[in-house]
Order: sequence, then C-alpha cells, then structure tokens
Amino acid sequence: MATIPRSCVKVRGISSLRNFCRVSSVLGVRHQSTEVNENRTGLSFALTEEQCHIRDTARKFAREEIIPVAADLDRTGERPVDIYQKLWKLGMLNPRIPEKHGGPGLGNVDSIVIAEELSYGCTAIATSWGGTNLAQSALMLSGNDAQKRKYLGRLVDEPFLCSYAVTEPEAGSDVAGIQTRAVKKGDEYVINGHKMWITNTGFANWYFLLARTSPDPKAKAGGAFTGFIVDADTPGIQPGKKESFMGLRCCDTRSVSFEDVVVPKENVLIGEGAGFKIGMGVFDGARPAVAASCVGLAQRALDESTKYALDRKTMGVPIAQHQAVAFMLADMAIGIETARLVTQRSALQADQGESNTYYASIAKAYASDVANKAATDAVQIFGGCGYSNEYPVEKLMRDAKISQIYEGTSQIQRIIISGELIRRFKSGGH
Ligand SMILES: Cc1cc2nc3c(=O)[nH]c(=O)nc-3n(C[C@H](O)[C@H](O)[C@H](O)COP(=O)(O)OP(=O)(O)OC[C@H]3O[C@@H](n4cnc5c(N)ncnc54)[C@H](O)[C@@H]3O)c2cc1C
Repeated sequence: MATIPRSCVKVRGISSLRNFCRVSSVLGVRHQSTEVNENRTGLSFALTEEQCHIRDTARKFAREEIIPVAADLDRTGERPVDIYQKLWKLGMLNPRIPEKHGGPGLGNVDSIVIAEELSYGCTAIATSWGGTNLAQSALMLSGNDAQKRKYLGRLVDEPFLCSYAVTEPEAGSDVAGIQTRAVKKGDEYVINGHKMWITNTGFANWYFLLARTSPDPKAKAGGAFTGFIVDADTPGIQPGKKESFMGLRCCDTRSVSFEDVVVPKENVLIGEGAGFKIGMGVFDGARPAVAASCVGLAQRALDESTKYALDRKTMGVPIAQHQAVAFMLADMAIGIETARLVTQRSALQADQGESNTYYASIAKAYASDVANKAATDAVQIFGGCGYSNEYPVEKLMRDAKISQIYEGTSQIQRIIISGELIRRFKSGGH
C-alpha cells in the first residue's frame, strides 16, 4: 500500500487525494509518460498526470485491499467497515466534495477513474461507494452553504456513508408514483412513507429523501415533490432487514420506513416542489460512474479469463489458442475499450459544464450490457470452474446484472436516449 504523506492529512480528518497526487508527483512516483497528454488540443484519449496518479492509487488499493477479501465478503455478506475507513483516509470515499468544504474537490472524470478501479476489485464495494456519492450529489447540486457545511462536513470529519432514498414499492422507474408524503407543520415537515432497496441504509448517517408535498394528486411531477436531507437517527426512521440479493452481497441495501419523522424546514433542498428535478438531476453525474463500474467489472472478467485461457489446456494446447475462445476474449476487449471511451466522454462533458444526459445514458446502457456479456463469457471460458464459487468469475456474473437495473433500467436509458435524439433531430442538431 502506498503510504499517505502526513502533509496530506487535513485538519478535519480527511486526506486530500488531490494533494496526495501532487505530493506523490513531487516524491517521484511516476507513471508511463506516454499515457499523459501534455498537449491538450482537439481529441484526447489520455488521462492527465494527476488522473494517472488517482488511477494508480485506486488500482493499488483495489489489488491490495479489496481483491484479497472480496470472495469472503461475498460469502459472509459482511459490510467491510475497514475498507470504507481506508478509502476515507485516502480521500477516495467522497472524491467530489469541494475543497471549500474540506473534500478533495475532484471532478467527474477523476471520479470515474476511481469507480472503475474499485469495481475491478469488487462491485459491491463500488456500489456502496456509488450510493453515498449519489446522495452527496443531490446536496452538492442543490444545497445551500449551511446545508453543505453541515452534512458534507460530517462526511469529511468521519468515514460516514449516506443514502439516496427515492425508490418505493410502487415507484421505481416511475418516480412520479412516489407515495411518501411530507406535510408542513409550522417550521417543520412531518414525513410518512416507505422506501425500498436503498443502498447503505443500515449504516447511513443521513438520507437524501424525495417525498410528495403537493396535496393535489394531479400536480405535475416537476412541482409535486420536495427533496430533504434527513438525519438517519431521527425518531420514526426504521430500516428493514438487509436484503438478500443474487450479487452485491456485502453491500447493505434495505427498505426503510418513515413514521411521523419530523424534519426542520432548514433541511429542504432549494424549496418546496424542487425535489423531482434534484432527484433526477443527480443521474447525469452518477450514470458515468455506474458505467465506469461496469467497465471495471468487465476488465476484471477479461483479465481473469485471459490468465485462465493461457493456463488451461485442452487437446494439447492452451484454450486461448482455440479461436472460439480467443474471439470471446477479443469481443470482451472490444466492449471494454468502447465502453470506457463513451464513459469518459460522458464524464468529461459534465466536467466541461455541458449537458451530458445523452452520453451518460448511452454509457450506462452500453457499459452495463458489456459487463454482463463479459462476465457471462468469462464463466464460459472457465468451463465448469466458472460455475464454481471457488473461482472469481461467477461472482462477476452475479454482480453484473444489477447494472442493467439500478440508476435507471436499460429500458429507461433507451427512452432517454431515443427522446434526446428525436429532440435533436427535430431541432436540426446532431
Ligand atoms: C441492489 C439495488 C440497489 C438499489 N439502490 C437504490 C438506492 O440506493 N436508492 C434508490 O432510490 N433506489 C435504489 N434501487 C432501486 C432501483 O433504482 C430500482 O429497482 C430501479 O429503478 C427499477 O425500478 P423497479 O424495481 O420498480 O422496476 P420497475 O420500474 O417496476 O420495472 C420493471 C421492468 O419494467 C421495465 N419498465 C418500467 N417502465 C418502463 C417503461 N416506461 N418503458 C419500458 N420499460 C419499462 C423496466 O425497465 C424493468 O425491466 C436499488 C435496487 C437494487 C436492486
């Protein structure tokens, strides 16, 4: 493990990854210079020097801290508290928190570089990381200074996680169907309802919560809902039992009920009626990270498969020499390289302040299909061993499936993409 220089540890208890990168550069921790685009003109397929350091730090962490324990965590379903603590110390748990609020202040591209590497190690851990970052995004996108100072500050001070609580039993893809209600009483809101499949719920310090505030059942989604920051220890909040899923087994996902939960009006984001926009707005930043997580999983499938295919012999030769197997490896590589490019493009657009909805959805839809195909082909290449949990690839196949479901299903991504391209076509754009 790379040790973090003391000079990087901030007073408030978090090391700044950005500082770490600068310091490691000064200390002479180098990467291959051909990877760095010194001359940023036109198209660029290279990470910056700083991003290479971020990637190398995250990669080292995944290889040394996550991979050795991932299979055990998958078996036990235990939550890897120490891993989140170590990520927090490295400044990688909350990379997007602005420097103004004590965080590393990294961008979207920096963040997807971390997501890919964490997911290479274990997608369950990357999902927990993604869940906490999704909730933070809602606050970063729409919170006022006092809200950010209080709730982002906590994440800087301690290795806490938070949750994005939107889905309900009757409202997944159909977010406008949310039934959880918040009723204003004086300077407070009283919240009642039930959320479903909320990542990090069992250990969340706070929630971003979307609730209906309009009493008019016919009110448009754009004005009917309000976004709240809710302290997880508020009386009336009851998390359910940890869900048992086919994959992501060490990631804590639960239902959570809210019964007469009192939230001060200071915890409303932007204002009453702005919640739907906030809840949906976070996905432009989050979908590139899910896509990057898929690329990480697919890359792991390819690396494991290549190693196995060179080792395993049938008919007197390594199976990599059978064209049918070699072509499966080639197809994985095609998917990974192309998914990584569109993922990086979607994140870069966000960093450049452009609307990235179209590319974020393309990246998420495409990379999740790539991950599922790569993991399934990896099991095929491993033969019978692929079906055994003594080998790493069946976990990849189980972990991959969720990427086509959460943060907008693959069908919903295609609705967004087709809607956007038709809109562009009609307006004469590309
Ligand atoms: C492990 C896990 C973690 C999760 N974490 C979170 C979290 O942290 N926070 C949170 O709020 N939620 C979370 N979710 C919920 C997740 O986002 C939803 O499951 C997802 O949005 C799909 O909603 P649904 O399950 O209700 O499926 P449904 O919306 O009922 O969809 C069922 C099927 O119908 C299709 N479909 C639905 N509507 C349409 C349409 N208009 N056109 C075409 N096809 C359609 C869908 O694509 C899908 O195939 C999580 C779920 C899981 C399993």
